[in-house]
Amino acid sequence: MKKADVVIIGGSAAGPVAGISCRRRYPEKGVVLIRKEEQVLVPCGIPYIFGTVGTPEKNLIPDALLDKNGIELVKGEAVDIDREKKSVSLAGGDAVSYEKLILATGSLPVVLPIPGLDKENAFTVEKDVAYLRHVLDVINGARDIVVIGGGFIGVEFADECKKNRNCNVTIVEILPHCLQLALDEEFCAEAENVLTERGIKLLVNKRVEAVLGDNKVSGVRLSGGEELKADVVIVGVGATPNTELAKKAGFQIGPTRAIQVDRYMQTITDADVFACGDCAEKFSFFSGRVSRLMLASIACTEARIAGVNLFNKRYATPGAIGVFSTVIGERAFGCAGLTEVMAKREGFDVVIGESTAADRHPGSIPGAAATKVKLVFSRDDGLLLGGGVSGGTGVGELVNVISACIQSHMTAYDIVLFQMGTQPCLTASPIAYQLVNAAELAVKAMR
Ligand SMILES: Cc1cc2nc3c(=O)[nH]c(=O)nc-3n(C[C@H](O)[C@H](O)[C@H](O)COP(=O)(O)OP(=O)(O)OC[C@H]3O[C@@H](n4cnc5c(N)ncnc54)[C@H](O)[C@@H]3O)c2cc1C
Repeated sequence: MKKADVVIIGGSAAGPVAGISCRRRYPEKGVVLIRKEEQVLVPCGIPYIFGTVGTPEKNLIPDALLDKNGIELVKGEAVDIDREKKSVSLAGGDAVSYEKLILATGSLPVVLPIPGLDKENAFTVEKDVAYLRHVLDVINGARDIVVIGGGFIGVEFADECKKNRNCNVTIVEILPHCLQLALDEEFCAEAENVLTERGIKLLVNKRVEAVLGDNKVSGVRLSGGEELKADVVIVGVGATPNTELAKKAGFQIGPTRAIQVDRYMQTITDADVFACGDCAEKFSFFSGRVSRLMLASIACTEARIAGVNLFNKRYATPGAIGVFSTVIGERAFGCAGLTEVMAKREGFDVVIGESTAADRHPGSIPGAAATKVKLVFSRDDGLLLGGGVSGGTGVGELVNVISACIQSHMTAYDIVLFQMGTQPCLTASPIAYQLVNAAELAVKAMR
């Protein structure tokens, strides 16, 4: 039997980061990472295989990352964990023993109970190179593509499928708006306008009731009976924790069906086993209640915590804030923490501060984009609860700044004094800096 100080199961976002963090903290420890894929995809890059990037092979996490950090890669499926003997068995009969184990087995696509989804050319979003190569081949020959789900994954898929292809793309979303689970309504409406301008058809408040066709997809039937022609159906509705292996080994599973862990990412079942990423239970930064957020960014933070805590507890998670961003054509949208709707639902009395300005100064600088920042504060103490942004590509980092402010428990009064750096070709003007102006307007509204 192979022996290792640390064994990690999972090779996507969380697994390698946990390994790297462990090796940085404990360079004397030997780390073995077990993953079942031959090649591992950048999970968030999957929609871009169908347009911008072009092939699954251009969307891979390089194995050199493991090599460079002294992590031994074992390709194979872990099929059993013997917690008494502290060993992991692989399909094919090999086994690896461990002193500490990290479970980073991730998630699997949600399979909706829609009749006909088993037909040829109906796809979920599998993180698998060969599967996605086949999906790409089918999409390249498609005329009518229906995407079920208008969340980030569905919207990114739809936009990429439409890019440089002469085909019809329709998103069917059950809620009144696309992106509604992550953004406030005004941002959703703006995103929907951009999608429509780019030739994507949106059907909201509609449910796909059946996928039609003999063996192959030929269409979908919607709630209300309307039928749409389709030669490809893509289900982009989210993921569920992959915990079969953990369940089999007797690990406690939480209310979101993920592995139960404490703030140190240590499983509550076994002190020598940690879990991180999509397979691990999360709690909200704001309420402390369980959270269904599943993001690569959260997975990597948890992995850093798990990797470092293996032999000496150092880090504890403050809970998941949830930071999303996406881009449709030239227009980006993002949110950190609670939207206005979520904050009200959580029971906060909120004050909103909003500011729109160009992200360059003067606004005549080529490439400048009007950027809107909406900040959500608690009225009582001015605490920042969340922020939504729409604008140019700077949105990705702007929501990260908002997340840093939330994590640091900053109030509107702190953000008014935020010390930013500005430069005409790179940022908004210091006079019109949206984050600060939005906070100042919220302070005014609080008085
Ligand atoms: C299309 C799409 C777009 C996304 N975009 C974003 C984005 O823009 N930003 C963002 O933050 N998040 C995004 N996400 C979410 C993000 O991809 C996940 O949160 C992230 O992949 C979680 O990482 P993970 O390592 O926990 O799990 P996974 O990525 O699911 O990886 C799990 C790993 O474990 C391996 N494994 C599982 N079981 C076994 C076993 N028994 N033996 C061996 N190996 C095993 C798998 O093969 C895989 O390598 C997106 C997801 C999708 C599907």
